[in-house]
Amino acid sequence: MTPVAIPRFLCALCVLCGSSLSAALDREAFTITKYDLEVQLEPAQQRLGARGKIILRNDSAQLQKVVALQISSSLNWRAIRAAGKPLQFVSQPFVSDVDHTGELSEAIVTLPAEIKPKDSVELEIGYEGLIRLDGTRLTRVGVPVEIARHTSWDQIGRSFTAVRGAGYVTWYPITTESADFSEGNSLFEVVDRWKVREAESEFKAGLNLVGAGGEKPTSLLCGAVSSAFDVDFGRNWTLMTNCHWDVLGPVSPTFVVANYRTESKPPLSLFSLSGHEAGVAKYSAALEPASKFVTEWFGKPTAPIAIADLADPHAAPFESGTLLLVSMAGEDTKLAGINLVHELVHSALNSPRPWVYEGLAHFAEAVYREQQGGREAALDLLGVHRSAFLDSEKDVAASSQKSAGPLTKGQPLTTTFDEIYYRSKAAYVWWMLRDMVGDDALKQAIRNYRTADDTDPEYVERLLEASSKRDLRWFFDDWVYQDRGLPDFRVQSAHLWKEQPDKTEKTGKDVRMLTLTLENLGAVGAEVPVTMRCEANDITQRLQVRAKSTATTRVELPCIPLEIVVNDGSVPESDVTNNVFKIEGGSQK
Ligand SMILES: [Zn+2]
Repeated sequence: MTPVAIPRFLCALCVLCGSSLSAALDREAFTITKYDLEVQLEPAQQRLGARGKIILRNDSAQLQKVVALQISSSLNWRAIRAAGKPLQFVSQPFVSDVDHTGELSEAIVTLPAEIKPKDSVELEIGYEGLIRLDGTRLTRVGVPVEIARHTSWDQIGRSFTAVRGAGYVTWYPITTESADFSEGNSLFEVVDRWKVREAESEFKAGLNLVGAGGEKPTSLLCGAVSSAFDVDFGRNWTLMTNCHWDVLGPVSPTFVVANYRTESKPPLSLFSLSGHEAGVAKYSAALEPASKFVTEWFGKPTAPIAIADLADPHAAPFESGTLLLVSMAGEDTKLAGINLVHELVHSALNSPRPWVYEGLAHFAEAVYREQQGGREAALDLLGVHRSAFLDSEKDVAASSQKSAGPLTKGQPLTTTFDEIYYRSKAAYVWWMLRDMVGDDALKQAIRNYRTADDTDPEYVERLLEASSKRDLRWFFDDWVYQDRGLPDFRVQSAHLWKEQPDKTEKTGKDVRMLTLTLENLGAVGAEVPVTMRCEANDITQRLQVRAKSTATTRVELPCIPLEIVVNDGSVPESDVTNNVFKIEGGSQK
């Protein structure tokens, strides 16, 4: 054969074809709107095998002929069919930190026909492989192996199995662009986009755990309900359970297999491992006060919830809907109470909006902590996850002032599926609302909340305005409906003066007054506490300072203040280095 010289212009054409082909593969064009899977788990081999049906909807604006289906790189595609006929597909590794192995097995599937925008196609799928402990995505960016294993603890194991879903282990198919841990927020952006697309999807998976002889595990959990039952065929046994969510919301389908001791006090089921009895006792003892507190604020907890033990005492806790996975090896009474409060809030109040569902649960933890340890302890708890969300907000604020370069888009709380926002920011928003309207008005609004009525983003605002008789539109605009960054307060001026003598005559004492002007340099308004610190006692006032504005107040002081401190940490702020204003010799600095 003689090699044929290809004319230059044809080469150029080939390159163009190549690039247009890869551009044509839109990995996020399809949403998987329904999963119906049968999954076989074999702990002795650390093996998972799945088959079933998925429905894919074309959510792009273009016709789609090809779909990229992804599972963990430790699993392999076996079959993909449509209407009983095998489809052509190419299986390839796809590097992405969305999976614990740092890689996915991607099937590039040619569909039987072009799918129009909004149309759906049903596929039958089969895949299998192993799920072992794997921290590759962490260790390859420099996380020490010992630390990685406490974070990346998912595995099907002989004595203990716990496997989290999308974002951890891709044990059911997903359709995503590549995610990168080392590239800023890319991993979280990819996972959040996936969660937003899947929020309305239905997920059904029948789990069958099979083994022979030996010691059988007692529990197979998926979600809060462990409906596991046992079929014995001589030496062989099977444990079965159904995972089912009508709508996934922020849930990441997760399953656990262990030799659990079960303790049930409806609505709570506690699943614990032997050797952790002292920790479990803390949970049992904390249940009654936690339930009392939650009932008072959120109504009676009724939906089933579960807390299940993790074998590794240092494992990072994880929550999927109404199932909390946390090691009970520790004997921390405070932590047990806080974890119970969180889950009981989920049991009492359901919401399709993560900022309400998760935000209220995290807010409740802080209020519960305040009852036991005071306001400062509560604000410390709220602040645990603060830095991650302050960083995102800084990017948002910087982006809005930028004339060029990529913009960091803000995330309105009403629609966010970003954990940093619906956990940390939402908890602060509820806390600020409580500071503004008071416990009674907030409790009343929460009691009036009906999941079925939460159909428009302004529903929560209306409930709160009705119970507090206050106009809260500006606050919701700045914190909930838009994301414009954070406030930044400073004392613009402080002027000390003495009241007119005719007023001081009555008491015979000098009345010292302070005229205080606060400035908010940020694009978000808030009501912020200001403390005048004296030697003997402090005076705290609350002041509403709208975005890019100032507000002035006059305060009567029983003492000469040494300094003025804006914000006690209850209002998230972009810059707190300008929050203390020193007063020297009774006059302003
Ligand atoms: Zn939660």
